[in-house]
Amino acid sequence: MPQSDWRPSSLAAQGLGWIEPRTGAISPPIHMSSTYQRDADNSYGSTGRIYIRDENPSFDQAQALLTQLEGGAAALLFASGMGAATATFMALRPGDHVVVPIGMYWALRNWLKTFAEPWGLAIDTIDMTDLGALRRAVRPGQTRLVWVETPANPMWSITDLAGVAEIAHAAGAKVAADSTVATPVFCRPIEFGVDIVMHSATKYLNGHSDICAGALIAREADDFWKRIQFNRSKLGAIIGSFEAWLLLRGMRSLFPRVERSAKSAMALAERLAAHRHVSAVLYPGLKDFPGHEIAAKQMQGGFGGMLSIRVKGGDAAAIRTAAQLGLWKRATSLGGTESLVEHRASIEGEGTPVPGDLLRLSVGLEDAGDLYDDLAAALDRAHGN
Ligand code: PLP
Repeated sequence: MPQSDWRPSSLAAQGLGWIEPRTGAISPPIHMSSTYQRDADNSYGSTGRIYIRDENPSFDQAQALLTQLEGGAAALLFASGMGAATATFMALRPGDHVVVPIGMYWALRNWLKTFAEPWGLAIDTIDMTDLGALRRAVRPGQTRLVWVETPANPMWSITDLAGVAEIAHAAGAKVAADSTVATPVFCRPIEFGVDIVMHSATKYLNGHSDICAGALIAREADDFWKRIQFNRSKLGAIIGSFEAWLLLRGMRSLFPRVERSAKSAMALAERLAAHRHVSAVLYPGLKDFPGHEIAAKQMQGGFGGMLSIRVKGGDAAAIRTAAQLGLWKRATSLGGTESLVEHRASIEGEGTPVPGDLLRLSVGLEDAGDLYDDLAAALDRAHGN
């Protein structure tokens, strides 16, 4: 069977099936060299490699795998998800207009306010689930980028990628999508017209809570992409060789990990919705969740491993619930093998749009029944019964 016929889960399981040609190794070597020899004719023609801050052979396989999984033209690994996202905004020019969602990763929202706006980007923040709001916000000829995140942290609101792409492209803008939570297992944003896909590879792509990494995948390796590549190199937002190797190792098990997390998340969402101390469950897989129909169209095979609950009794009851947990771990981040709970309002601080009674749940690979029992008992104990 030629590799061109392999389905995405087969491509991931074998890291594209690359074999190291010199030794026959199935797991690739880690290249630690920071520099490469010039040819005798003073060019780098025989390898194309110059210096580690530009490229490194240890990035090749993971970048090629991501390119294929997302159906793009090229991919770049970064030192972090934030490195990937900020390199994208910094490929714009002062004076350019961008539209970003209210529902987005909080540290990026913070960076836009503290760095990008003073640097000169004109930024409009809108409810990206409302295509009418986007139509009103874009400025044809001046808007250069529309940023979306779907499902969006931590309320899991769903953005209609095809609808956004149509409006943005008509105005002459590109669309970049943070697809960290959807992962290429459930959604391939490029198929819906998105130009740049972004991942915090610290999360599901790696999947073991042991590296910091980011990735971008481009529909087209055009001039904007070259500016992003320039930023990665000149800002030094480069991933380490060992981290790139660990990321590739993590991606080999991406499909079974993410499919299991999503199945458990769905089961938990349904059971928690009936719990007497839970006022709401936010999960795109629930039929009554706003955006469920769009999610069902643009996510195939599952709705992801992230959900949030709103705890009756407010902030204090939510924090007390987290304190009572044993199996779930109280920690930030998501997408690892272990299930994590976080009171988001505490970490996001003043000005957060996240309600104080919300607990964010990253569903790992433990037994789904154990995960429910631990949460249900913690909710009961936090409410004195
Ligand atoms: N995007 C999302 C949805 C995230 O959850 C995070 C991190 O939590 C980021 C981006 C930033 O990624 P990193 O922490 O790898 O810089």
